[in-house]
Amino acid sequence: MDTNHQEKVLRDRWHELTARLRKIDTDLGRTRAADDEDRAIESENDEVLEGLGQAGEDELRAIDAALERIAKGTYGICARCGARISEARLAVLPQTPLCEDCAAGK
Ligand SMILES: [Zn+2]
Repeated sequence: MDTNHQEKVLRDRWHELTARLRKIDTDLGRTRAADDEDRAIESENDEVLEGLGQAGEDELRAIDAALERIAKGTYGICARCGARISEARLAVLPQTPLCEDCAAGK
């Protein structure tokens, strides 16, 4: 397991997410439209943005936890059953704390 590479992937993703979340906050903080119709559309957009923001924050937390596991040397080991997480799975989901079986609820 090349944790240096995984760390770089995770850090890049972290920066990308942080930039995106900052933009969402800016969009949500903009001045409200005075017109009622515009306001309805805007609040719909805000819900979508807030949903994206929530998903992004959950992912950020997962990435932080993964970086911590790299630092502790426990990266790539399932947090639930202790099995080694396959490299193929980590390549797709570098921040995952669970092996395939545990993630599937087995
Ligand atoms: Zn497991």
